[in-house]
Amino acid sequence: MKNLSSVFLVSALIILLAACQPEQEASSASADKITADLILSNGKIVSVDEAFSIHDTIVVSEGRIVELGDASLLDKYDAATVRDLGGKTLIPGFIDSHTHIRGRPQRYIELSEVSSIAEMQDLIRAKAAELGEGEWITGYGWSEDELAEGRKPLRGDLDIAAPNNPITFTRAGGHSAVVSTSALELANITDETPDPEGGVFERDENGVANGIIRERQGIVGRLVPDSTYDELIASLEINLGDLLAKGITSITDASKRPGEYAMWEELYAKPGVKLPRSAIQFQWFDPEGIADVKARVGDGNEFLKIGPIKVFADGGFTGPAAFTKEPYLNQGDYRGYLNMPEEELVAHINEIHDAGWQMGIHAIGDAAIELVVDTLADALTRNPREDHRTYLNHFSMRPSDETMEKMAEHGIHITQQPNFTYTLEGRYVANLDGWRLEHNNPVRSPMDHGIHVAISSDILPIGPLVGIYAAVTRKGMSGRVFGTDEAITIQEAIQGYTIKGAFLGFEEDLKGSLEPGKLADMIVLSSDILTIDPEEIMDIEIEQTYVGGELVYQN
Ligand SMILES: [Zn+2]
Repeated sequence: MKNLSSVFLVSALIILLAACQPEQEASSASADKITADLILSNGKIVSVDEAFSIHDTIVVSEGRIVELGDASLLDKYDAATVRDLGGKTLIPGFIDSHTHIRGRPQRYIELSEVSSIAEMQDLIRAKAAELGEGEWITGYGWSEDELAEGRKPLRGDLDIAAPNNPITFTRAGGHSAVVSTSALELANITDETPDPEGGVFERDENGVANGIIRERQGIVGRLVPDSTYDELIASLEINLGDLLAKGITSITDASKRPGEYAMWEELYAKPGVKLPRSAIQFQWFDPEGIADVKARVGDGNEFLKIGPIKVFADGGFTGPAAFTKEPYLNQGDYRGYLNMPEEELVAHINEIHDAGWQMGIHAIGDAAIELVVDTLADALTRNPREDHRTYLNHFSMRPSDETMEKMAEHGIHITQQPNFTYTLEGRYVANLDGWRLEHNNPVRSPMDHGIHVAISSDILPIGPLVGIYAAVTRKGMSGRVFGTDEAITIQEAIQGYTIKGAFLGFEEDLKGSLEPGKLADMIVLSSDILTIDPEEIMDIEIEQTYVGGELVYQN
């Protein structure tokens, strides 16, 4: 019995050991591997680090990048999700450092894709039928350059479609609007009403108001009844979420009122929302307003925070109201204008600077740019501030070399919209000529002066690939090429839309490139943007978008 049982035990032990051997090997090898959340491999991973290094594999854990390298990382790490990129290009998510996103009410019509006044009228008829007579209809995004009729829509065009609905349609760029007769009546604007301060009621040759209001369309807009909170927050979630399909993983939203922040906070606190990261730029109104908001700086997290203060120096070329040194083309001595009296603007900039704020200052015309730079240089000389990172937004006209030298010296940066060269081509050709037309939206010359230039969209349109295309080709919508001495390379344009945008938000150590320790915000492209024919840049599709290592968009 004893012998038999010993033999049995020994045999059982041998069988057990034999069976266990391979399993042990596997489990000991697996124990050697480091556990991660996500591995993307077999890609062309463009890190946008200092050296613009390119890798095969990226490893992510807890929303952050752990390591980049070759395929051997698959032997080092184990992850719940391992994806084969199939050779596709992966770059950091786009950072749009100047845009405007908001929730839209039910009465709103999106006009940015409208290609004729006739189509606009069809949309008005449908909306009026949905809302009923007398209800306000609003819209945003039309441009006479994209309308088949080749002109601005006028009040008569709106009246035909819905004579009994007050309508206000803001032009793309937000510097003018067309309103219907019913809206003019509700605002008590007649042919005799003088132009508002800082704005224009356009009139025809007989002095009759044609419905176009420049710069002060808020006179009508403020009559539009408030939308419900639920309506707006639901729409905000959709509009922000749509950015992920464009490859945008971070934005700076310009010119919100402090009161609007609560809705964003509520939205970002909602469990399970898939949104890009946002910094909110509040518009300067008054010293108390600044103090209220400043008390909250440092609030927020990696998804939502308060950004710089927004100041408006002048208007834009869609009005047109950009403040220029020389008169506009064929418009007498018209040079546009400042958004407020010069002394007031200078005082505001000094006050905000002294309060310790970073500023993002809207300056489009060369006269506005030079005034703002001189003012900032004086403020910084009087009261130096380390690493203030105040920047000019737009910078649509090239100022003097002396101005750019001052900017480099004082660390005054830029967020630029090369996409304007594409979409606003018609406005530049109508208002500018010669050297200043050729150098619209300069990127190369400020960069060569040592100025930090980020690239953003200002939602004209929102897709980053339009800006990259125009920055590289210097082409307008018609195919016309503007001063190629302002062109930059595809690599520089990608940096402008990623790491340079992160820098303006004091976040260059957190995002904007794919490096260990940084947030895993990244996008997979349908083609290799580094080697593609520049003419095909706008055809590239965003295949996947990751925010913090989470797949939030899949084409
Ligand atoms: Zn803007």
